[in-house]
Amino acid sequence: MQVIHHGAHRGVTGSCHQLIINEQQSLLVDCGLFQGTDELQGAGSYQQGAYLPAPYQDASDLRGLIITHAHIDHVGRLPELLEAGFNAPIYCTEATALLLPIVMEDALGLTRRDSDRSNQLLLKKMRRLLVPLAYDSWQDLQPLPVRLRLRQAGHILGSAYAEIDHDNGYRVVFSGDIGCKDTPLLPDPTPLERADLLILESTYGDRNHDDRSSRQQRLQQVIERAIEDAGSVLIPAFSIGRTQELLYEIEDIIASNPHWRKMTVILDSPLAQRYTAQYRSLKRLWDNEAKQRLDANRQPLNFARLHVVESHQEHENIVGYLQQHGDPCIVIAASGMCTGGRIVNYLKALLPDPRTDVLFVGYQAEGTPGREIQQYGPKGGYVVLDHERISIAARIHTLGGYSAHADQRELLEFMQTTVAPVKAVRLVHGELPAKQALAAQIAARFGLVADYHR
Ligand SMILES: [Zn+2]
Repeated sequence: MQVIHHGAHRGVTGSCHQLIINEQQSLLVDCGLFQGTDELQGAGSYQQGAYLPAPYQDASDLRGLIITHAHIDHVGRLPELLEAGFNAPIYCTEATALLLPIVMEDALGLTRRDSDRSNQLLLKKMRRLLVPLAYDSWQDLQPLPVRLRLRQAGHILGSAYAEIDHDNGYRVVFSGDIGCKDTPLLPDPTPLERADLLILESTYGDRNHDDRSSRQQRLQQVIERAIEDAGSVLIPAFSIGRTQELLYEIEDIIASNPHWRKMTVILDSPLAQRYTAQYRSLKRLWDNEAKQRLDANRQPLNFARLHVVESHQEHENIVGYLQQHGDPCIVIAASGMCTGGRIVNYLKALLPDPRTDVLFVGYQAEGTPGREIQQYGPKGGYVVLDHERISIAARIHTLGGYSAHADQRELLEFMQTTVAPVKAVRLVHGELPAKQALAAQIAARFGLVADYHR
């Protein structure tokens, strides 16, 4: 079996890999959207609106799509794929099958102006093709000579890495996005068993995260300092995953600190609110610590000081109020890299205000406003949002330990704890320096030459 890549081989976004079983039969793993500079580079080789580059425009040899998790950079090209005639099973975990329709509704609303009816048809088709699978059990993909097993990746709710075994015993593993250990709410990634070929993400292949055990304290310290000058703390966060982790930790800080009990936490993202509701309904997938909090009658994702903003009018009112009066509060809004969504309005209104603190808790891809704020904000620079030049007087913080991606140490450990050595590895989903650094470590530790796009 061979693997070719239609995304995330050069940069971090647009994950899409094709597993060629034979000339007539292929499986696709993820079908994600390009973002930031990846999007610009992608535009050169991908026709507008195409799900794959020209030689692969015929969807008929695709016998299935495996979705590792519901992030947009792993599923965002699904509408184009369905429109191109893809008509085969879509395999994913049960939780991903619940999250995916919400992600798609959002993607269709944001990126396409087609009639509602054709969008509804696409959603209906997607729902019909979904085949939810339980974690850890093998699924025969007959008539293909392969079987599939999804395993806990610990990245977001429902995230999995995919093991695909050929009848001849050859095993290819697609890591999807591998989470960190000790992530709030979620179980740790299941250790890798073995792989003849491992397609491994490398987002943080060149660094190790801050100590995660002190992460909640650091979050508390940054917010407390920020609150002292009566400004708001803006946290750009992805709607799925990070938002729920943050709510979970903020609830814990509030529960254990009496002087925090008056803190207002504003969740301003209708989409994040829908995902949060799904996270609440899937409590059986939480880790033990989170389940214990429920047993203690706490509501980690639905606490008293949490204010959920519903309408756009209310959103505008809050932005206006904070701009005029300032008010110590925490605002969590999407999108995580500030490329769109309601966070942009907060940033436009509050970046020029020195009382504001912006707290980055996630990876900021090259070319995104988030990366620019992170890079130029501390030097008193500016950022362009909605074609407007916004000067940055706010303080900018980055809390590394919050990443939803495994760091270099954890990626190496993922390869190391197998029952048999990994035979070949190809690095994807990382910027070049990250891939180079991880490849050097892999060579030193396993004597293995990692393959990656240079
Ligand atoms: Zn992801």
